[in-house]
Amino acid sequence: MAATHEQAFIDLPQSRVPVTSTVDVLVVGGGSAGLAAAVAAARNGAQVLLIERFSYIGGLATGGLIILLLTLDDGAGHQAVGGLCQEIVDRMERRKAVHYPPREQWNVPDSKLVEHYSQWGLVWGSPAPEGHRIRYSVAFDAHEFVYAADQMLKAAGVRVLYQTWACEPVVKNGSIEAIVIQNKAGRQAIAVKVVIDATGDGDIFAGAGESFELERVHPWLWFEMSNVEAAAVPGRGLYFHTPGGGRVLVPWGGEARVNRKIDATDPDEVSAALTDCRDMVINEAGRLRSTVPGFENATVSLMADQLGITESRRLQGDYVMTRDDLDRQFDDVIARTGHWTKYLCVYNIPYRSLLPRGLDNLLVAGRCISVDHRVHHATKEIPPCMATGEAAGTAAALAIKSGLNAKKLDVAALQEQLRAQGAILD
Ligand SMILES: Cc1cc2nc3c(=O)[nH]c(=O)nc-3n(C[C@H](O)[C@H](O)[C@H](O)COP(=O)(O)OP(=O)(O)OC[C@H]3O[C@@H](n4cnc5c(N)ncnc54)[C@H](O)[C@@H]3O)c2cc1C
Repeated sequence: MAATHEQAFIDLPQSRVPVTSTVDVLVVGGGSAGLAAAVAAARNGAQVLLIERFSYIGGLATGGLIILLLTLDDGAGHQAVGGLCQEIVDRMERRKAVHYPPREQWNVPDSKLVEHYSQWGLVWGSPAPEGHRIRYSVAFDAHEFVYAADQMLKAAGVRVLYQTWACEPVVKNGSIEAIVIQNKAGRQAIAVKVVIDATGDGDIFAGAGESFELERVHPWLWFEMSNVEAAAVPGRGLYFHTPGGGRVLVPWGGEARVNRKIDATDPDEVSAALTDCRDMVINEAGRLRSTVPGFENATVSLMADQLGITESRRLQGDYVMTRDDLDRQFDDVIARTGHWTKYLCVYNIPYRSLLPRGLDNLLVAGRCISVDHRVHHATKEIPPCMATGEAAGTAAALAIKSGLNAKKLDVAALQEQLRAQGAILD
């Protein structure tokens, strides 16, 4: 009889893996945060390798079909996220692959405009006392994000390895010496000066034994339907216009949901949720076709291939942001963000929220930075993920240039460089 999973162990022979590369900066994970981290580090002179387990850049922003950059503003008409996030919007705009309100419309309480941008999924949350106002948010095309990202990485000289998993960090005296990776060429090690954990799930800091919190969440699968009549999209509904004529984006499963929370780092739970969510998508598409005028001839044209996982591991780092930090100023601010469901709500993000407590050459970027569950609601959005990625990448390159470790970095110099790159810190 086969032993149960819990009882069985196998001893591996003492293993030696070849060091196939030595790099200044290894970025693990090619989501929106990893993209920004890699480009920023390379533009600041570092030799950068980016590894990604799938075959494209963007993570949830592309493979999860989360094709809405929610709130690059502070909810009062001022831009709060710039830098590389603004650059990718500009690049996609040049290819007519975005839809968003121009600057003169930000913060305008015009009900017709609010209705228009609601139809594009760009107005969320409860209205301010005087009603909804226009936010600076951007609907975009997933393939165009991938294309723009490819161009940015190539131009910056980043080496990218797709279909490659980061398996484990090799830690010595409080620093990561190497990251063991696995791909079709087998198991290898990458020797590193600085690592950026942009895995979304904090695989690297968890593997290195850093402390974290883990949240169970409802799984979602966003999808697109084609051949939908424009009039079928209501002012505020369960589906939105998306770039590309006759297409709608159906986020959050439309009316359907998988009614259980999962741990996104548990492969069994993730696998079962993928099957259930795909089933949910087909049923929901059928419901829309048979009950909503304008959907009669619609078909599912794109189904996210990554589960929509809002949250999994969050680092407990040098500083853990809490909701009391709303509007708080930090001397070591490296990014800021508004809130997608709230007006006049800004979090300044300190450098210390990117730093684990026990390692001096690891930086964390994106949705797994050191914040509590409440603050995560704001910092997990794509614009702040790109902003923390840009900060982490720039910090990594400056640390290498100055010969200091990430913990001892001159944060004033980092802030000056981020401002020079167009990041917004003030
Ligand atoms: C349902 C849902 C709705 C949302 N709505 C919005 C919205 O409307 N607007 C908005 O701005 N944001 C929204 N968000 C939040 C936003 O999409 C994500 O938080 C953000 O995209 C995360 O970016 P990231 O780069 O930190 O992580 P991810 O996008 O998760 O990227 C991590 C990358 O790392 C790779 N990776 C992971 N582990 C490894 C490993 N061990 N080795 C190699 N590669 C690895 C992954 O394949 C992935 O490419 C939503 C999120 C969800 C789930």
